[in-house]
Amino acid sequence: MIESVKCAICGTEEHEHYLTSSDRLSSDENDNYNIVKCDNCGFLYTNPRPVNQSDYLAPFIEGGDAFNVLADPKSISDWIFKIFHPASVRWKRKTIYELPTIGRLLDFGCRTGDFLFEMKRAKWDVVGIEADELGKDFAISHYGLNVVSSLEEIIEQDEKFDVITMWHTLDKVPDLNSTLSSLKSILNENGFLLIALPNIKSFDARKYRGDWIGLDLPRHLYHFDQDHLVKLAQKNGFEVVKQKNISWDTLHNVFMSALRRAGKHRWNARWSVNWPMLFWTLMVSLIYGSKLISFGRKCAGSGILYYLTHENNK
Ligand SMILES: [Zn+2]
Repeated sequence: MIESVKCAICGTEEHEHYLTSSDRLSSDENDNYNIVKCDNCGFLYTNPRPVNQSDYLAPFIEGGDAFNVLADPKSISDWIFKIFHPASVRWKRKTIYELPTIGRLLDFGCRTGDFLFEMKRAKWDVVGIEADELGKDFAISHYGLNVVSSLEEIIEQDEKFDVITMWHTLDKVPDLNSTLSSLKSILNENGFLLIALPNIKSFDARKYRGDWIGLDLPRHLYHFDQDHLVKLAQKNGFEVVKQKNISWDTLHNVFMSALRRAGKHRWNARWSVNWPMLFWTLMVSLIYGSKLISFGRKCAGSGILYYLTHENNK
């Protein structure tokens, strides 16, 4: 079942078609979804979209379960994950260490809990939210973490946090505004909400268009750039105090997008990758990302980490 939705930022119903692409995890190449552009504010979102998202998220967790892949990598994309995953967990920990706060951390969309466990070892008091039962059960049984199924359960417990992280989670949340206002209510006065997202205005997103892995239709319901994340944050009483390029995301997204494009034409994707285009895109994307500040906000990298605080609380 699918539903049509309005723009989550300005409420406008009118939109124009932006692009069509298929579900990369579906065996049916014609399993297509549309991204539309709001006529008023230009926000890009998946429309229409599946009502029951869990139907689409489940194979993502089962097929991409970090531990299965790390223990037994089968494909070239598994190997990319195996190489980047430990470094990306360490990078997340270092990012938290750099914040001028310490204490309680909530990871929204914690999957199998690798990052949370890393923070628990660093003496943080940690809680996770994971809607997928497989991921949640693993985090609890393997790491002994405190993980719940939904944000509502956290709200009911009336707990507050110093840091809330959403590593590539916000774009999968059906209701952006109610989620952000709930998160605001449980974030301490001097706390930080960290949101990592793919950047649809990045060089590699424009180069690979419908094959860009950051689209991930229909799991990603929204397709952010910097301007629209700032608008959404302001609308919900947050201020974006810092933005940082995520180089891991650029490497991952360029390689995976090139594989996806190649895989459409031949079954053995690795031999038909357009390597010159891959390296050119990678180099330009990394340069744009590394120059996030001096090049201006339009030329940022493939993945961006946004630092949000309560409004008027720099
Ligand atoms: Zn709009």
